[in-house]
Amino acid sequence: MADHGARRLVLCVIGTRPEAIKMAPVVRALGVRPGLRPIVLKTGQHDGAVDEILETFGIEADFDLGFLSRRAALERAVRELSDSIAGVLAAVRPGVVLVQGDTTSALAGAWASRRRGVLLGHVEAGLRSGNLRAPFPEEANRVVIAQLAALHFAPTAEARENLLREGIEPASIWLTGNTVIDALRAVSDRLDQRGESCQTERRTILVTAHRRDSWGAPLERICRAVAEIHDRYPDVEIRWPLHPNPCVAETVTRALGALARVRLTGPLPYLAFVAAMKQAALILTDSGGIQEEAPALGKPVLVLREETERPEVLALGVARLVGRDPERIVHEVSRLLEDESAYARMARGGSPYGDGQAAQRIARISQARLDGRDGFSAAVQARITPRTA
Ligand code: UDP
Repeated sequence: MADHGARRLVLCVIGTRPEAIKMAPVVRALGVRPGLRPIVLKTGQHDGAVDEILETFGIEADFDLGFLSRRAALERAVRELSDSIAGVLAAVRPGVVLVQGDTTSALAGAWASRRRGVLLGHVEAGLRSGNLRAPFPEEANRVVIAQLAALHFAPTAEARENLLREGIEPASIWLTGNTVIDALRAVSDRLDQRGESCQTERRTILVTAHRRDSWGAPLERICRAVAEIHDRYPDVEIRWPLHPNPCVAETVTRALGALARVRLTGPLPYLAFVAAMKQAALILTDSGGIQEEAPALGKPVLVLREETERPEVLALGVARLVGRDPERIVHEVSRLLEDESAYARMARGGSPYGDGQAAQRIARISQARLDGRDGFSAAVQARITPRTA
């Protein structure tokens, strides 16, 4: 690593699939800036899925810590990962460390950079559900990372407000938009160029659920709703790419595996998943990233959670919070399948998450800090602020 010029390295920590998707555009944007070099550290929290995404975006990891979270208790996982990342930082001596989101890997990366005294940037800063117990441990991770970071890349004005409320220095917060839109656009354009059929099949419902707080009884109730929708609408097909976690796959397969028009598969590669979103009439999910992507593709989203840290999509009317009550889920799905104008209102598209240029902004700001500049003046800050919806 000796020839990298220590002051111009930006080390990007990637643990899980969503981190890989949201960090990939940043790695690419850093890579095309003269004088900067991204160093990609893969923790191994999710393994195959991350490799697949890095490959999709033509990125090679520089470090692979081979860590699998399922084998360790949460606290031990953070400590062990943080030790390993600190070891890499000591060897590489980057000028900036970037972590994304709210995972164990992001928290461990943040601790490690604090321990090594390396400037920390947080991509997708400022999301809050307002409840430390839900989602757990993500909400707690976000709050702690915000206290450790020196650069906060907020995807929306609401996220910026959340950080200000917690006393974060205003000049350290940058409103960039969400890098998920950058990734989505790149992949969606690629699908369009290939001419792959992405026409809306009015009657395909795409479902995903994986969050820890959905496991067990809530997931069984979601499955009951899906079975009811299947029985009520013979022209509807349900497509459910299952999260690899056995807690999810076993429950769903037991409940829905025998139904004729429920297609259960393993997790889809990102390209195939974006194609599936484009083909779906509507999407049921507890995922954070999909709440951001689906509206940008003009797909109504019913959020299988009791609360969301993404209130912007609710305010815009392109997503609705439906929880895990089977009756409520079936009611909301039926409304969209039967009432064309209700469907059209939610499917009109529009995204509060920016213009697909978030990664470039993050790369520019990181470089400015490495160059010893302060970033941008207030006037430039106003100019780079992404337009929403
Ligand atoms: N995704 C994917 N394949 C799948 C399911 C999801 O590539 O089979 C993508 C999806 O497009 C989104 C991200 O994975 O960008 C969301 O990941 P997940 O739901 O696991 O995590 P969250 O966003 O809730 O943190």
